[in-house]
Amino acid sequence: MKIAILSRNPKLYSTRRLVEAAQARGHEVRVLDVLRCYMNINSEDQSMHYRGEELEDFDAVIPRIGASVTFYGTAVLRQFEMMGVYPLNESVAITRSRDKLRSLQLLARKNIGLPITGFANKPGDIPDLLKMVGGAPAVIKLLEGTQGIGVVLAETRKAAESVIEAFMGLKANIMVQEYIKEAGGADIRCFVIGDRVVAAMKRQAQEGEFRSNLHRGGSASLIRITPTERATAVKAARTMGLNVAGVDLLRSERGPLVMEVNSSPGLEGVETATGKDVAGAIVQFIEKNARANRTRTRGQG
Ligand code: ADP
Repeated sequence: MKIAILSRNPKLYSTRRLVEAAQARGHEVRVLDVLRCYMNINSEDQSMHYRGEELEDFDAVIPRIGASVTFYGTAVLRQFEMMGVYPLNESVAITRSRDKLRSLQLLARKNIGLPITGFANKPGDIPDLLKMVGGAPAVIKLLEGTQGIGVVLAETRKAAESVIEAFMGLKANIMVQEYIKEAGGADIRCFVIGDRVVAAMKRQAQEGEFRSNLHRGGSASLIRITPTERATAVKAARTMGLNVAGVDLLRSERGPLVMEVNSSPGLEGVETATGKDVAGAIVQFIEKNARANRTRTRGQG
C-alpha cells in the first residue's frame, strides 16, 4: 500500500515509528508536512499538491495533527477523504475530539462515566457553579491547556471561588470538575485501535502532585486493566468516531471515569512503558480496513 503520514516533523518518535512499521510490512510511506499541502477545491477534480507536485494514489492517510494546526490540518485530511483516500481517523471525528465541551456532551449522552463537570462562560453565580460539581475540593481547568498546564486543584471553597473568578477575569473558557481523590494522583492511558485496547499504561504523579502528566514529572508503567475499563475505553473511542484513540481514565469508587479522548495519541510513552509494538498494530489495522471511499462521512458535517 501507499501510505501518507500527515505530520509536521518526521523526527518525532511517533512519526518515525509509524514509518518504520509501515516499511517493515512492505508498504511505501511518505511523511507530509500538513501545512505545506495545498489543495484545489472544485466539484469536478479534487487534487492535493505538495511542493510543486500533485500527490496521487495514496491508499491510506495517517493524520498526526497537532492541536495548534487542527483547523488547517483537518481541512487537508478532509480533502484526502473527498479524493477517496482512507483516513485512519476521520476529519470529523478529530474536530469533534478537539472540542472538550462537545466531547464530554457526546460521552455523557452514551452514559459513559465522567467526572461531574461544570462548564461556564460568565456564571452570575460562582458559588452555585461550584456547588453543582459537589463543592471543594474541585479541579479547575483551562480549556486551552495541555500537559497539565492550567489544571488547578483548589482544596477549599474560598480557593476554588477565587481561582474561578481569576480565570473568568482573563476571559478564559474553563471547566470545573469534581476532584477524584481516590485516583491517588494516577490516571490510565488506554491505547485503543478499532474495538481493542492494545496497550494500557498507568501514569503516576510524583509525590505531592495530583497531575500525572509525564511533563510534570509523572512516571509511566504497564498496568492490567479491568474488563469494565477496557469496555469503557473502547466505547469512548467509538462514541467519538475514532478508530485510534488515547483514552484517559481515572479510577474512581464508582468505576472508570473518562477524562479525555485524544485523537493523536503519542506512541513513545506507551511503547516504552508496555514494550508493545503499537505502531505495528496501527499499520495492521490499516491493512485490514483501508478501502477507497470507505469513510463514514467523506468529510461531511
Ligand atoms: P491535560 O489535558 O492538560 O493533560 P488533564 O485534564 O488531563 O489536563 O489533567 C492533568 C492531570 O491531572 C490528569 O492526568 C490527572 O492525573 C489529573 N486530573 C485531572 N482532572 C482530575 C480530576 N477531576 N480528579 C483527579 N485528578 C485529575
